Amino acid sequence: MGIRAVPVFPAVFWGVIRDKMSTKRRPVKLLPEEVVSRIAAGEVILRPASVVKELIENALDALARQIKVEVKAGGKNLIRVVDDGIGMTREDARLAVARYATSKLETVDDLARIWSYGFRGEALAAIAAVSRLTIETNTDETQPGTRLIVEGGEIKEISEAVRAQGTTVTVRMLFFNLPVRRAFLRSENYEFRLVAEVFRNYCLAFPQVGFELLSNERPVLKLPPGASVKERLEALFDKSMVQGLVEFRIDNPSLSLYGFFADPTQARGFYEIQQVFFNRRPVRSQIVTRAVYDGYGPILANRNPDFVVFLETDPSRLDVNIHPTKQEVRFTDERFLFDFISQAVRKGIGRHYQDKIPAGEFFQPENLVRDESTPSDFWQLHNSYILAQVASGYVIVDQHAAHERILYEQVRVQRQGPSSQGLLFPITVDLNAEEFEVYEQMQERLRAMGLESKIFSGRTVVVDAVPAGSFMGKDEVRELFSELVQVSSDRASIDDEICKLIACKGAVKAGQRLTTEEMQSLINRLFACQEPYFCPHGRPVIIRVTLEDLERRFGRI
Ligand code: ADP
Ligand code: MG
Repeated sequence: MGIRAVPVFPAVFWGVIRDKMSTKRRPVKLLPEEVVSRIAAGEVILRPASVVKELIENALDALARQIKVEVKAGGKNLIRVVDDGIGMTREDARLAVARYATSKLETVDDLARIWSYGFRGEALAAIAAVSRLTIETNTDETQPGTRLIVEGGEIKEISEAVRAQGTTVTVRMLFFNLPVRRAFLRSENYEFRLVAEVFRNYCLAFPQVGFELLSNERPVLKLPPGASVKERLEALFDKSMVQGLVEFRIDNPSLSLYGFFADPTQARGFYEIQQVFFNRRPVRSQIVTRAVYDGYGPILANRNPDFVVFLETDPSRLDVNIHPTKQEVRFTDERFLFDFISQAVRKGIGRHYQDKIPAGEFFQPENLVRDESTPSDFWQLHNSYILAQVASGYVIVDQHAAHERILYEQVRVQRQGPSSQGLLFPITVDLNAEEFEVYEQMQERLRAMGLESKIFSGRTVVVDAVPAGSFMGKDEVRELFSELVQVSSDRASIDDEICKLIACKGAVKAGQRLTTEEMQSLINRLFACQEPYFCPHGRPVIIRVTLEDLERRFGRI
C-alpha cells in the first residue's frame, strides 16, 4: 500500500477518469431486449432532487465544462439544467425521450465497462412521462439546433432552435398528471434542501467543471471551473470544519482512496458531511462508512467525523446496476473493501500525526533537550505519564498505551519465531471448564506469540515463559485466560485480537513507577514501532504541546 505525503492535485485524478469516458459522439439507440432485461428496474424519478440528479449526470456525461441549475419552488414548478456539452442531433433528441434509449451502452458486456453515469436510457423518458419537458440542444452552432416539447410522455413539437453547442433541459410542473404524487412532495424548502445536496455532491465529484445554482431567480452559488476538491469544500462548507480535515490518498492495485477526513481530536458530536463517491458516483455505503469509523478506532469515542471519500476502481469490479437510482453499488470483494478502507484511514490519520512532529525532533534521543538543572529531561507524572522536553515544546506519553503498542507489534511479528523470557517462578493458574476448553484450542497460538505453557494436571495450567519485555504476573495471566474466552472465533481477526490481549495484559500499568532507564528504553522502542502514535485500540499514545500553545495560553501571543 503506497501513501503519498504530498497531496495529489485532484484535477489530475479526475482528469484520468474523464479520459476514460468516451469523448466520441455516439448515436442514441434503443437497447436490445437482452440488455433491458438485465437492468435494475424501479422508480427513477421520486422528487425534484431526482430530476436534478439525472440532468446533472447527463450534462457531465456530455462532457460539459459549465453547468447551470435553476429551480423554482424547490423544483416543484421548474427545474432547468443548462450545459455546454456535446449536445444532441435532432434524431438523438427525439429518441432520447423514449424508454431504454441511450448512446452510452450497446451490449451486455458494456455493463462491466461503465465510466459514464448513465447507461439505462431511462431518465429522460421517466421525466418526460410525468412533466412538461422541453429540450433545446445543438451539436454545432453553425447549424440550427433542435427544440423538442414533450407533455406527459407525448411529443408535442419538434422544431428548430437557436442555441450554442450544448443542451438545456427544462422540466415544468413535475407530476402535473399524477396529482397524488405531486401532493406528497414536501415543502419548497425541504425539496430545495435535497436539490442542493445533490448539486453539492456533483460540485465535489467534478471540481474542474463550473457550477451555478439559482433558486426562485436568485443566485445561490457560483463555483468557477478548474477548482480542486479542497477549494470546492471550502466554498460549500464551514471554513473551519474544512481546515480541520486531513487530506490523503492511498493506492492499491485494485482500489484507490482519496479523501478528506476530520482530525479525530477535532471531531464533534455531529457531522456536516459524510459522503462516499465510488468511481465519482455519490453513493450511500454502509460498508464504507463502517470501515471509516473502524479506521479511526475508539479515539472517536461517540463523536462523528466529517469525511469525503473518493474510491476508484476498474468498472469491472463495481456493479453499478443493483439499484434503480444507482445510489448503491456493489464492489466485488466487500471484505477487502472494508479492510482496505479501514487500514487506509488508520494509516492516513496516523501519518498526519507523524507530520505534526517535525522529522528528527523526537526520533533520536539526542533531540531531547537536556539542561544543566535537570538530571534527566524525562519526568514521570503521577507514575503514569512520561513527560519529555523537545525543541519546540514538550510531549506527554501514556506509558501503558506506549508499552501496549510496543508489545503488540512485537508479538505480531513473533509469529515467525517467538522471543520469550523464561520465568524464574512459573505461574500456575486453575481454569474453569470454559476457559480450559478455549485454552486448549489456543495453546499453540499463544506459544507462537511467546507465551509458553503446559497442562499440569486436570485444568491446572503452568506458564513458564512470557513474551520478552512484558510484565506479566499471576494476576495478568489469570485475566488473560479469562478474557481469551471473549475473543471472537472469527478466523480473520482471531490472531490480531490475541495479540492485542497479550499486549494489554503485558504492558506496564498506569501507576507503576519507572526508572529513567526504563523510560528511555520505552521511548526508544516506541519510536521503533511502525505506528507509534496510536495504541492497538486506536487511542493516542503521545500528546504534543508546543511552546506556541503555551505562549497562547499564558496570553503572551
Ligand atoms: P442515459 O443517461 O442512461 O443514457 P437518459 O434518458 O438520461 O439515459 O438520456 C438518454 C440519452 O440522451 C443519453 O444517452 C444521451 O445520448 C442523450 N442526452 C441526455 N441528456 C443529454 C445532454 N445534456 N447532452 C447530450 N446528450 C444528452
Ligand atoms: Mg442519464
